[in-house]
Amino acid sequence: MKTPTALVLELIEAIGEDAVVWHDEDLLVYEYDGTIDRGNPDVIALPADTDDVSALIRIANKHGASVTPRGAGTGLSGGALAAKGGVIIGMNRMRRILSVDAENKTALVQPGVVNLDLGLEAERHGLAYAPDPSSQRACTIGGNIAENAGGPHTLAWGTTTNHVLAVELVTADGEVQWIGHDTRDEPGYDLVGCVVGSEGTVGIVTQALVRLVPRPSAVRTMLAVYDSVRDASNAVSAVVASGIVPAALEMIDKMTIAAVEPVLNTGFPLDAEAVLLVEVDGPESQVEAEGARVESILRRFEPREVRSATDHEEREHLWAGRKGAIGALGQIMPNYYLLDGVVPRTKLPDVLDAVYEIAERYRLPVANMFHAGDGNLHPCLLFDEREPGATARVLDAGGEIMRVCVDAGGAITGEHGVGLEKRDYLPWIFSEADMDAMKSLRAAFGPTENFNPCKIFPAGHGCGEAGHQHHAQQQIAKFGPKAFV
Ligand SMILES: Cc1cc2nc3c(=O)[nH]c(=O)nc-3n(C[C@H](O)[C@H](O)[C@H](O)COP(=O)(O)OP(=O)(O)OC[C@H]3O[C@@H](n4cnc5c(N)ncnc54)[C@H](O)[C@@H]3O)c2cc1C
Repeated sequence: MKTPTALVLELIEAIGEDAVVWHDEDLLVYEYDGTIDRGNPDVIALPADTDDVSALIRIANKHGASVTPRGAGTGLSGGALAAKGGVIIGMNRMRRILSVDAENKTALVQPGVVNLDLGLEAERHGLAYAPDPSSQRACTIGGNIAENAGGPHTLAWGTTTNHVLAVELVTADGEVQWIGHDTRDEPGYDLVGCVVGSEGTVGIVTQALVRLVPRPSAVRTMLAVYDSVRDASNAVSAVVASGIVPAALEMIDKMTIAAVEPVLNTGFPLDAEAVLLVEVDGPESQVEAEGARVESILRRFEPREVRSATDHEEREHLWAGRKGAIGALGQIMPNYYLLDGVVPRTKLPDVLDAVYEIAERYRLPVANMFHAGDGNLHPCLLFDEREPGATARVLDAGGEIMRVCVDAGGAITGEHGVGLEKRDYLPWIFSEADMDAMKSLRAAFGPTENFNPCKIFPAGHGCGEAGHQHHAQQQIAKFGPKAFV
């Protein structure tokens, strides 16, 4: 029978027995997020309010235990994993929408609010919360802020950073600070901008004042079906080059369709090489004009078909196919490794060719479904981790794909963050001096040693052994021996 440590006992004393999880079998669900890596926390603490968060951090600091914030654990870069054990602070009990100010188009929310719940609440006020990650049924606003989440509809509205006005932050020493303001442009440095996208390394967001946007009065959703991925990618580049910024511009390839269609019956043709989901919204007249222009551009690239959703139900159905795509891939293989690269949109056709070539060379099925309008690729390598060597093969292929994105003038993450997964790729795009500057910025928020350690910066930068080409597989080996699964 496991006995509680002094750390566990003190956490229980602070927030109650029901809010502290420390038995091995209960810790299981916190050892991974949506990616391959594993990390084993010693204890999970579930605060009810800001004071709890502050108290928990101080207790962890007193015991020299590391602290890792966690939302829904849907992150795809290992950011919410306890890389050095310690305390995971799970924000899921702080899930209240505190107020909606329809006149000023803002909402004050706790970080554990699920993205879709905020969207539905905004809808009741005739408004919308624009960032809509495909994981929106589960992921939290705190996680979205940490990762600067995007989504199909952030092409026109911008990613999370454009929608956060202020945050309450508990820093790594347990101090509570409000950063930002409800006015749109506060004098001084943009510290909210530093917090958004900081991947949970500068503090724990305990409240956020977010921007809501008007709901469009009209929307047109088009499905364009192509017999070649290159034609579909060229159509994407042409739409973007035309100067029109659609509300959404997503691509789904044949492998993804094969997974999605049998379960969701979205009407994506099984023999198509790729489909594009394109949406324009706004006032009726604008939608009519832009919709017609977009359709004529799509038709220039010899689609088999371009059709529009005729009603709300059909539109929802098409989007269900896109947003349910990753889940549906379980039909094909038990494991996936979802990559997140970003490239200049004009490079999409060549980079996609390279992705398929790499996957074939490594004998891995690859499914692509992604925010094409942003040039944000999500090749999803499918495998069975029980097959000897399969995980290593996937990680090597993933590294090559990332390298192709960087060589094409892109970057190693479009929206999922660097986290634990891609920290050793950071020197591909930043110099030592750049990384030192970033670390100084991080340190300005508070002590860094034990706060969400081993994230973003390469091994050797305050965590683990030196050497940049520390392969993700080695990370698994490193953090995995204690792993339960
Ligand atoms: C099927 C699927 C589809 C996805 N689609 C998209 C997509 O379209 N767009 C997109 O951007 N992402 C997408 N993602 C990735 C993921 O959902 C997002 O990164 C999301 O923002 C993570 O939210 P979370 O609550 O799950 O955070 P977690 O995974 O729990 O944590 C992510 C990071 O945030 C930090 N964190 C969590 N809460 C806080 C807090 N309160 N304060 C400070 N730091 C915190 C954690 O430490 C960690 O570093 C997808 C994931 C899946 C599984």
